[in-house]
Amino acid sequence: MFARLGSTLLAAVLPRLCLGCEAIVASPGLCAACWPRMRWLAPPVCEGCGLLFDPGGPGPFVCVACAAGMRVPRRVRAALLYGPESRDLVLRFKHADRLDAAPSFAGWMLAAGGDLLDTADLVVPVPLHWARLAWRRYNQAAILAHLVACRRRRICIPDLLVRRLRTRSQGAFGASARWRNVEGAFAVAPRHAQHVEGRRILLVDDVLTTGATLRACARVLLRHHAASVDALVLMRVARPERPAASGNRSRARLG
Ligand SMILES: [Zn+2]
Ligand SMILES: [Zn+2]
Repeated sequence: MFARLGSTLLAAVLPRLCLGCEAIVASPGLCAACWPRMRWLAPPVCEGCGLLFDPGGPGPFVCVACAAGMRVPRRVRAALLYGPESRDLVLRFKHADRLDAAPSFAGWMLAAGGDLLDTADLVVPVPLHWARLAWRRYNQAAILAHLVACRRRRICIPDLLVRRLRTRSQGAFGASARWRNVEGAFAVAPRHAQHVEGRRILLVDDVLTTGATLRACARVLLRHHAASVDALVLMRVARPERPAASGNRSRARLG
């Protein structure tokens, strides 16, 4: 109770800072200058990859890349594109303890992918390895998963998936190395194995870069007979690089 009172008092006393430029703002989120700089992925978007796509007429639509390949996860939604204008938002959230960003991020994610929550039985974050969790103290994907699930009254199981291998930081890899790096890295926690079969699962992560991580997680869940796997992320790269060794371009693109 005292901790909650303390944080409420602090929030009342400290100025709110824009998540983009850290200028003082009246309400949480982005200032009037930062908001229009972001590349939002608002509808119309492709039903598969969630990237902007508007062939006209009533939807839903699937872009050529998604129509051509097997989609794992089935549907992906992102609030905005990852790029120079948005990178700092997520880096501060991940590494510099701007956890006050989480409610704003969750709101943006719900605006982009609320329909995925409506059809989900379970919300599951992409896990961190325990050693990285101990070092960083929190899993940013689990915080986002918890918030979006709470707001739509869905069940979130933060430890349903575990990361078996301590994969090296994805930032250090090229596309094909990233794919090799995450294959086999994830597993369903044995105590939650009975929660997967027949369930429609929504994976949550902060950033989709190549899609390799989400794809590896989704494949593990599908091997445990999940009914379907979708994914909701804060940001995604527009056109992920494809692994050089892959013969299936459209699969690689969505992942
Ligand atoms: Zn700003
Ligand atoms: Zn698509």
